[in-house]
Amino acid sequence: MRGGDSEARPPNLEQELIDAVKHRILLIEDEVPIADSVAYALEQEGFEVQCAYDGLSGLSAVRSFYPDLIILDLMLPKLNGLDLCRTVRKESNVPIIILTAKTEEIDRILGLELGADDYICKPFSVKELIARVRAVLRRAESARDKEEISKFKVGGIELDVARRRVTVDGNPVHLPLKQFELLRVLMANKDRVVTREELFRKVWGTEAPIDTGTLDVHIRWLREKIEPDPSHPRYIKTLRGVGYRIVDSEA
Ligand code: CA
Repeated sequence: MRGGDSEARPPNLEQELIDAVKHRILLIEDEVPIADSVAYALEQEGFEVQCAYDGLSGLSAVRSFYPDLIILDLMLPKLNGLDLCRTVRKESNVPIIILTAKTEEIDRILGLELGADDYICKPFSVKELIARVRAVLRRAESARDKEEISKFKVGGIELDVARRRVTVDGNPVHLPLKQFELLRVLMANKDRVVTREELFRKVWGTEAPIDTGTLDVHIRWLREKIEPDPSHPRYIKTLRGVGYRIVDSEA
């Protein structure tokens, strides 16, 4: 139910797990007072926020900040929100919440057909917007978790969760459990940056910074097994200090 999933929910484990990861929100809004007040409120709620004040800088922020969610105003200078949304959708499944001052139903539907996940009409309450942000992040997370029961393919890599089997260009590759789990989480989030915190939580089941080098060592071992040239990774890309992302850079 779009737009109807925003009521306050009692705290539960799922919510705690989502809150445990510092989600990155990109706010694209040219009205500076609105952007500032929304950014401030989101930061107070524990989100990491980056603001962009026109469409073009918004698009470049999508490609450099790797947000977990985008809040997108439709009426923007340089590149309007509709075109920005279409462009982003060609590149990524990142959840998008649209802000619009246009109240006509047709505009709402148009926004959703573009692949946006939710919308909110101006003027809005910041509290309501934050409730929507949490609801959309929850939906995105649970959709990704459901995908984890199936099979994944990125370029020449295929991973079958049920059979716990990985092949690279058709050749079976044996991966120890942690490397298999790392690859599974990355492949379930293809093209999306998975933060170091999320990898710790999903692979090691902890937020506690187990020796932070451990993750990088496991990634190195994994690259040695699956990359054609581990020193110039085709698949697993590093976002220094943030996390890792699996892509098919030959595609
Ligand atoms: Ca605007």
